[in-house]
Amino acid sequence: MVNSVLTPGVTSSRLSKDELAGNFSDLHPPLDGHEALVAADRCYFCYDAPCVTACPTSIDIPLFIRQISTGMPESAAKTIFDQNILGGMCARVCPTETLCEQVCVRETAEGKPVEIGLLQRFATDRLMSEPHPYKRAAETGKQVAVVGAGPAGLACAHRLAMNGHGVTLYDARNKAGGLNEFGIAAYKTVDGFAQDEVDWLLSIGGISQVFGKRLGENLDLDQLRKDFDAVFLAIGLGGVNALGTEGEEKDNVDDAVNFISELRQSEDLSKLSVGRNVVVVGGGMTAVDAAVQSKLLGAQHVTLAYRRGQEQMNASGFEQDLATSSGVTILTNVQPLKVIGNGAAQEVELGYTKDDGNGLELTGETFRLPADQVFKAIGQRLDLDDSGLELAGGKISVDESGKTSLNGVWAGGDCASGGDDLTVTAVAEGRDAAEDIHDKLMNS
Ligand SMILES: Cc1cc2nc3c(=O)[nH]c(=O)nc-3n(C[C@H](O)[C@H](O)[C@H](O)COP(=O)(O)OP(=O)(O)OC[C@H]3O[C@@H](n4cnc5c(N)ncnc54)[C@H](O)[C@@H]3O)c2cc1C
Ligand code: SF4
Repeated sequence: MVNSVLTPGVTSSRLSKDELAGNFSDLHPPLDGHEALVAADRCYFCYDAPCVTACPTSIDIPLFIRQISTGMPESAAKTIFDQNILGGMCARVCPTETLCEQVCVRETAEGKPVEIGLLQRFATDRLMSEPHPYKRAAETGKQVAVVGAGPAGLACAHRLAMNGHGVTLYDARNKAGGLNEFGIAAYKTVDGFAQDEVDWLLSIGGISQVFGKRLGENLDLDQLRKDFDAVFLAIGLGGVNALGTEGEEKDNVDDAVNFISELRQSEDLSKLSVGRNVVVVGGGMTAVDAAVQSKLLGAQHVTLAYRRGQEQMNASGFEQDLATSSGVTILTNVQPLKVIGNGAAQEVELGYTKDDGNGLELTGETFRLPADQVFKAIGQRLDLDDSGLELAGGKISVDESGKTSLNGVWAGGDCASGGDDLTVTAVAEGRDAAEDIHDKLMNS
């Protein structure tokens, strides 16, 4: 039976299966051959192209676009994968509007960039339907442990395997992919693409996977350092920040990342429960994704509550527009004060905030919103105790090549200091650490 969006409480089946299938279809449908040629034709093939500088993995964008325009999409894909082995996922999830496309000269001159992300997807999709394009170098006999099979770990493992090293890839979960599999919004990566990409990447060989191993629980860093020639840590940010408000422990006050992860693993979205009135607390990509996906599941009212001004939101302008065009209400300069309800959430009391240059403070004015589900999306933190690793800003401290304070241990991606928390940055850091590990293993 299909419940209506008006059904009170937190319930499943607010929409029909057909409506859900439509809502969660590809956000940016792929270009066909003709569209790709037209899009590629808009590129000026700039010398010292700003789009390349803006790409954390430094893909030679004008070169791959020229390869598309001259009818060589497979060569274009190779240009991309040489720099970014997860170029297929990045083509789908990169916030191009704040990276390559933001600085494209056609954006700065005309307000309409070359569609770099879609062109990247056009090229990579073609080569990924063919056998893996990279071969391993001769075996070096060296063994490296990679802990965490998200974008950083996968990129590192692939580059190490390519350089001839043996890799053991550990993960606490029961499948690889990290947030590509468990976090990214469902409409950005449809049809099981994340697992297909993992399978394609691992088909280079030389990488064995071990699941259900959590560093700090049933996997010991000191032991790994003894058993392997090098260790790369890519465990992301597993902890979730608390709201710190009264009533946070009530039923249906949930962690946004868990909700999204459940949604990504669901085989039948009609079985997933969502509130009629949903309040999401936060201002980043996770908050927007939780809000938009709640709406797409059939929530009647979804409000995103952010404590600072709109210009300070971490979610890009594109993401904010996606939220509002999906029917999400964005409230800025508001902070949750308490969750009200008898056992389960029913309302959230919020207070207005202001910042006159002396830090954020409450104005004293408050209001309430009906909320039978509240999502916390105010950031994640490193979940690793007593590892002996030096930390910086709550993350594992690393130098520019990913070396940590412990000899023979590198780290990259979200768990490591520096860099922004994006898929493409994680890939770049995994790749670069692999090259540094290779250099160290072969020259010492
Ligand atoms: C909801 C959400 C949406 C996002 N959307 C986007 C987006 O659209 N575009 C974008 O560019 N970025 C997005 N990001 C950010 C992006 O997903 C991350 O920056 C990226 O996944 C970081 O990669 P990583 O490999 O460092 O970590 P992760 O992807 O988090 O992978 C870490 C891996 O380590 C494993 N692990 C964790 N702890 C341990 C342990 N102790 N022992 C062993 N294994 C462990 C985990 O199971 C996981 O597989 C999003 C993030 C979130 C939370
Ligand atoms: S900046 Fe734009 S026009 Fe110039 S090379 Fe890059 S994509 Fe092409």
